[in-house]
Amino acid sequence: MIQRIPGVHGAQAYLYVSGDDVAVIDPGYTGSYRAVLRFIREQGLEPTDIDSVILTHHHVDHAGTAFALCEATGARLAVHREDAPYLRAVRPRERMTFWGMADWLPARLASYIVSCANGELRLLEHGDAVAGLTVVHGPGHTPGSICLWSASESALFLGDVLNNERGLRTPPWTVNHSHSMAKLAPQRLRELRYERAFFGHGPAVLANADQRIRAFVGREV
Ligand SMILES: [Zn+2]
Ligand SMILES: [Zn+2]
Repeated sequence: MIQRIPGVHGAQAYLYVSGDDVAVIDPGYTGSYRAVLRFIREQGLEPTDIDSVILTHHHVDHAGTAFALCEATGARLAVHREDAPYLRAVRPRERMTFWGMADWLPARLASYIVSCANGELRLLEHGDAVAGLTVVHGPGHTPGSICLWSASESALFLGDVLNNERGLRTPPWTVNHSHSMAKLAPQRLRELRYERAFFGHGPAVLANADQRIRAFVGREV
């Protein structure tokens, strides 16, 4: 079962339930954990039912509320190994990072968030399984950008590897860690089969999504 979580600010957040696995993907901008908790309860679930909070990458519009949500639920935070350093208290600073934004927060709030950042992370690698999803590493937008593929739901979560805001496209160079790699990242999806695609930004594709994305990748090459 895949549902978009309403009321989350920033990127689109998803609830993913498969068998016993309950995961939240990209819970959104700072403060959005309240909307996630509200939605979880509306589904007849308890916050403690969430096993994993999975980030497609470290950007604040996807990850800003992740530590607060883990604190509230006891869920384990999972992120690709290459993006994990951006979530830690000693961290590379970069525009678009969570910590670039922490500079703008009141000092006490920033230090609170930084202290939460010392919580344990599950470090993901290409091919790993997390909450019934398979990790597909697609670096470029950030070094540790991932897609998450579900065989049982025939679905792919693309994070910001591709968006669907004005048709399918890779993110603009202004927000990419490596623009040349970000342009190539969708090629890594060519082998996958899935009916539906869910994006960080823009509407989902609910039929023949793999064909549409393969056609897009073919045009780009
Ligand atoms: Zn985004
Ligand atoms: Zn992003």
